[in-house]
Amino acid sequence: MSCPVSASDFRDALAAPGPDRFMALPKADRHCHSLLSASLRSISEWAGAAIPAAPARMSSFEDMREYLHRELYPHIRHKDGFEFTAESSIAESVRDGVRILEMSIDVDFMRFYDGPEEYFRFVQGLVDRYRDSIRFRPELGISKNRPPATQIPPAEECVRSGVFGSLDLYGSEDAEEPEAYAGLYALAARHGLKPKAHVGEFGSPELVERTMRVLGLREIQHGVAAARSEPLMRTLRLEGIRLNVCPGSNVALSVSPDLAHHPIRTLLDNGVRVTVNSDDRTVFGRTVSDEYRALHAAGTVDEAALYAVWRDSLVD
Ligand SMILES: [Zn+2]
Repeated sequence: MSCPVSASDFRDALAAPGPDRFMALPKADRHCHSLLSASLRSISEWAGAAIPAAPARMSSFEDMREYLHRELYPHIRHKDGFEFTAESSIAESVRDGVRILEMSIDVDFMRFYDGPEEYFRFVQGLVDRYRDSIRFRPELGISKNRPPATQIPPAEECVRSGVFGSLDLYGSEDAEEPEAYAGLYALAARHGLKPKAHVGEFGSPELVERTMRVLGLREIQHGVAAARSEPLMRTLRLEGIRLNVCPGSNVALSVSPDLAHHPIRTLLDNGVRVTVNSDDRTVFGRTVSDEYRALHAAGTVDEAALYAVWRDSLVD
């Protein structure tokens, strides 16, 4: 994507009192999830229920899962909820100025449909409907919290469908070993899907490196644990592997004590490629524009570095 926005235009948009100027800039969101990326307000209105917001600070990913299962999933974890949240997430991303959207869609949602073809038609329909306003590239998502034996066979069908542009693995980091998915990632590589996975949000730098090697990752969702390991940051820099980080999510889930001390600063200082993304807007309440503006307001990253991050985020 061409980038006609100068550093001073970018700085002015960041420093503007309201969000509109920054929202008007083209942006990429390379780390978000379809079921959890619509605003909580739109879901509440659609469901006709006053759904409570997640606590601003949770102690772990398990705390978040507990909130999701108690408050949110009863309203959205079914076919209508999936379709509403997926479409709303895209429409709301367009309003935020997102022009490249790699949003995961879980393989498990296939069971809402009468067969894979109907599921693929819905996903492809989203791409087609929004083609003029956003490059939406469906990302196939697999949760480690469900048994690989039930998830991998349908995922292989998704890989072969040609509908998905990338592959992501998420859920509790220690629920399964990365080796369980090596065959699926090899198949995805043969079909041209970009290999991504969540790792190094809560897990160790060692797990980041191992997952990277076993699955052949070119991009890592979170991966902020790398900031604790100079050898790993060196490897990431030399191999040009990009971390799709979500600072608001990391603060809400206590991965980082606050935004000012977020590891993005260390990663950038060590030459690691980083993008800024939203993760789960429904839970964390932030768009991509909000994430950039919050990093700027907290003084975490200076304007020149943030400009470079933003430009790189638009590069495929
Ligand atoms: Zn995520």
